[in-house]
Amino acid sequence: MNDRYASFAASGPGRALVKRFGLPQPPRLRRQRAGDPVVPGPVLVGGDGRLSGAIVKVLGAMGVEVRDPAASQEQPAPATIGTPADERIPLNAALVFDATGITTSTGLRALYDFFHPYARALYPCGRVVVVGTAPEQCGTAVEAMSQRALEGFVRSVGKEFGRGTTANLVYASPDADLESTLRFLLSARSAYVSGQVIRVGPGTATTTANWDKPLADKVALVTGAARGIGTAIAQILTREGAHVVCLDVPAAGEALSTVANELSGTAFQLDLTAPDAPARLAEHLQARHGGVDIVVHNAGITRDKTIARMSSDQWDQVLDVNLACQQRVNEALLADDLIPPGGRLIGVASIAGIAGNRGQTNYATSKAGVIGLVQATAPALSGAGITVNAVAPGFIETAMTAKMPMFVREAGRRLNSMNQGGLPIDVAETIAWLASPGSAGVTGNVVRVCGQSLLGA
Ligand code: NAD
Repeated sequence: MNDRYASFAASGPGRALVKRFGLPQPPRLRRQRAGDPVVPGPVLVGGDGRLSGAIVKVLGAMGVEVRDPAASQEQPAPATIGTPADERIPLNAALVFDATGITTSTGLRALYDFFHPYARALYPCGRVVVVGTAPEQCGTAVEAMSQRALEGFVRSVGKEFGRGTTANLVYASPDADLESTLRFLLSARSAYVSGQVIRVGPGTATTTANWDKPLADKVALVTGAARGIGTAIAQILTREGAHVVCLDVPAAGEALSTVANELSGTAFQLDLTAPDAPARLAEHLQARHGGVDIVVHNAGITRDKTIARMSSDQWDQVLDVNLACQQRVNEALLADDLIPPGGRLIGVASIAGIAGNRGQTNYATSKAGVIGLVQATAPALSGAGITVNAVAPGFIETAMTAKMPMFVREAGRRLNSMNQGGLPIDVAETIAWLASPGSAGVTGNVVRVCGQSLLGA
């Protein structure tokens, strides 16, 4: 989309003006291109917890150069640390810190000791990942307190480091398989995911033989695939090897066929609000594919009005498409046993469902309901080996947001750590990570794809 401010700020005269007046400087975000390495440079690994060995092993398997702060070059005195060009501090593509060993407030000092010397020695679009223990899994109240404190640290780093750096916290259970999550968070695929807390539990991740096509032999359903974010999801899941069933309303039939044909997928025209829609969908998936491995509930609508001005139809339509349809489709597919072990249910929520939004009581209610659906369904399906997660996009450049009034649109673009809107591909990459067989331990999560928007937590 056309973000004129970002183009101006990147131009010669624009750069000078923006700097002079202290205006937002949207960095150029790095996104994954075919053939790129997962991480574009060395990763400095610190911390002294139960996962350091596992992290180094995973990074090694990814072919990443792992650096150890103790073995790194002589540590410069903090006062002399200035710019990224300081030659005595080697630049790193990412900083990964195992904080699972922190059990007291004084132990949190280890964060300062590790990050302080290297805070300015990161590549542009660098990555920060802190790994901890979920507070509810800690042995003592003091340990739980200390682990909860990590959230504040990571979110502040995300706001401080700038230049497209992302910072995320992973709470890992003792038997968590971290490879799929570290691959995502350290790569350019997570360009617009920052300030997030992700829980990785046990789950038996199947060995991923080919990380370029982890979804080979999988069938994925993407609703609302005729345009916008849905098209990007269908494209990325196809790139990952899945056969994609692209679903949208009959009125969008032509665009839907184009998308499905380009991806060698299948087009399925269906209005999800029709009373027989879940049954027809189940029948279609059963007859054509014998079931479905990945379900992405992306179809959504807005009917914005303040509650005082909203008609009951506007309320009903939004709740029906955005929430009730997700619930009914899940129920129909599960009742007919169409989702095998290893299945993935992925909802599309919104940061409006977390923060609320003026003029969107209907939309925010529906999207908060999607979060509720994930949280209630994930534990119930863990025994069946099916994960349930949601993404909550922030401001994403689509036809939906292009229609916003200019001032609201500009606020959406700038009020986040990246100072720009995200792209549909950013949501799609996040969904591909959740859909991956390696993400078996990632369930019950709501991951915001919002560039660390200032709205909400
Ligand atoms: P969009 O309007 O461009 O696309 C939505 C698609 O859903 C359309 O193709 C539409 O035909 C389809 N759809 C609507 N009702 C349907 C029904 N009854 N049956 C089948 N298909 C139906 O929207 P988008 O911007 O690409 O958003 C996709 C999803 O992401 C939505 O759930 C939206 O709420 C969510 N989201 C978007 C943003 C953003 O900034 N664009 C932010 C947060 C959340």
